[in-house]
Amino acid sequence: MQYVTLLGATGSIGRSTLDVLERHPDRYRVFALSAHQRIEELLHLCQHYKPLYAVVANASQADWLQARLTECSVLVGTEGLCQVAEDERVGMVMAAIVGAAGLAPTLAAIRAGKKVLLANKESLVMAGALFMAEVQRHGATLLPVDSEHNALFQCMPRPGTDLDVQGVERLVLTASGGPFWSTSQADLVKVTPEQAVQHPRWSMGPKISVDSATMMNKGLELIEACWLFHAPEHRVDICIHPQSIIHSLVQYRDGSTLAQLGCPDMRTPIAVALAWPERIGSGVPLLDLLRCGPLEFSAPDHDRFPCLDLARQAMRAGGTAPAILNAANEVAVAAFLQNETSFMSIPVIISQTLEHVAGTPADSLEAVLDADARARSCALRLLSANRVNH
Ligand code: NDP
Ligand code: MG
Repeated sequence: MQYVTLLGATGSIGRSTLDVLERHPDRYRVFALSAHQRIEELLHLCQHYKPLYAVVANASQADWLQARLTECSVLVGTEGLCQVAEDERVGMVMAAIVGAAGLAPTLAAIRAGKKVLLANKESLVMAGALFMAEVQRHGATLLPVDSEHNALFQCMPRPGTDLDVQGVERLVLTASGGPFWSTSQADLVKVTPEQAVQHPRWSMGPKISVDSATMMNKGLELIEACWLFHAPEHRVDICIHPQSIIHSLVQYRDGSTLAQLGCPDMRTPIAVALAWPERIGSGVPLLDLLRCGPLEFSAPDHDRFPCLDLARQAMRAGGTAPAILNAANEVAVAAFLQNETSFMSIPVIISQTLEHVAGTPADSLEAVLDADARARSCALRLLSANRVNH
């Protein structure tokens, strides 16, 4: 029986994780659940899953929730998130908060030597070098939940070791292409937030849905793959595969290509990460090869989706450049979701932020957070200039 802390319980990954945990009451117990805005939903989850702790964003939410829960202690803010991530009773931490807000508690779980199930790709993009060094130092285990990285992990017998030692030539990340894969450049200019969050294959939170539509999601995943699998950026390819049946592939020097296939449902990679190296039921049906239709592949269009190249550029620049890229993207996507900027401004804001904000070595959490803050204020300034012209 293992205690599991679930950071970001009210989100899409959070709900899918609870669905898998609930199928295995003999293996897992919920230690803590966290939320940010959806407090009523967190109350219902606490009543159902009976965690020892709940974590919310501020004191008034905590008072409201604590008044309704007797056998659960309610904690507040980043300090509360870190406390439930590093508690000695906890075996596993699911990092499913969206964006930079997940960085501190995920790092706390790593520093406490936990088994960390990583959905929160932004934290690894921001602080990849630091994360991987701390994983080594504290004997933590980092298991990818992102479906592509989970697929790569499953296709490599020794995922922590050097690619050359394993005989791996290239990693291939598949991408659905998002909702605008066949939309013309002229029509992309008119895209609304409502259209952007309608993903054809996956049901996800609003931020990652927009990332998917701009293809920044694949850019962030490229950086994520480089850190998780010690891969130089030029050995990670992106291939558009609209059916989202093949979740990624590993190509070996002997000509073998290994792929992981499955229905597009995040409960599969979540179950893989929870039970690894064992296999448990996830509620996802087996893939029916006779019904999944022809599988198609094509190359990404770099002109309509410039975010991919921006991510490669940031990874090549190194240091805090990926943190700057991530912060600018978070600011631009939030503005787009609020109807404050256009879809096509997102890559422009990111590119200009990368030009204006100086990168530094990313050797400490302070350096990463400083770059994040400088990039956010630059992106906000660029946005308000853009709003005047909009
Ligand atoms: P959601 O928006 O659905 O959920 C985000 C969660 O984070 C919610 O529980 C939310 O709380 C919480 N949260 C938001 N802001 C803060 C904050 N400032 N401080 C603390 N908690 C916060 O996102 P997803 O579940 O879709 O994605 C979560 C992460 O997993 C992202 O990093 C995403 O890239 C990654 N991921 C998601 C996939 C998917 O299929 N959804 C696939 C692969 C990776 P509340 O809702 O209460 O406000
Ligand atoms: Mg993914």
